[in-house]
Amino acid sequence: MKLEEERNLIVEYGKKLIASQLTTGSGGNLSIFNRKENLIAIKPSGMDYLLMQPEDVVVLSPDGSIVEGSRQPSSETKFHLALLNRRTDINAVVHTHQVYATTIACMNWELPAVHYLVGFSGNKVPLAKYATYGSQELSDNILEAIGNYNACLMANHGIVTVGASILSAFAVAEEIELVARLYVQCKSMGEPVILSKEEMVVVGEKFKTYGQRR
Ligand SMILES: [Zn+2]
Repeated sequence: MKLEEERNLIVEYGKKLIASQLTTGSGGNLSIFNRKENLIAIKPSGMDYLLMQPEDVVVLSPDGSIVEGSRQPSSETKFHLALLNRRTDINAVVHTHQVYATTIACMNWELPAVHYLVGFSGNKVPLAKYATYGSQELSDNILEAIGNYNACLMANHGIVTVGASILSAFAVAEEIELVARLYVQCKSMGEPVILSKEEMVVVGEKFKTYGQRR
């Protein structure tokens, strides 16, 4: 079986999406690019995360053709491939309909630096224009909006996050959901204070050395 490790990670992180309440049922999707093997593991379309097995995960070449797997790949394969091909600094993509981030996306707002943890994305989370799910236009809109950020809201749809590993792409989704929740709550009380671009540069530098040094 090709990409056994990545297939196991797709199953494991799918369950984590459910446990963390970042998605429900079969919603959202995940992919991992093994650049050495030049193969991508992606969630099968419309499959319940709790029922999904490693052999259900689909293996694609970077152009989208199926290399291994009997299932149909995710309905959002277009933007997963576009991001993994364009952004050579990333190896994993997570897409969810997590409630607070999606609430802001439904307002067609960006998520500003209401809390320093927005640094998991950059100095904000940009917004991609609406287009029908699964479409080339949606993929184009995401690529245009995300730039070098690690997250991008999708108008009237959800959020996509990226990272060097599935662990980091998942962490971005989780932390941005917290920031989005704070922003929604602040907006219900009034106008929140937004951190300056200068401060977010300082935070960005600190993030580079945060955690356990090896
Ligand atoms: Zn979606």
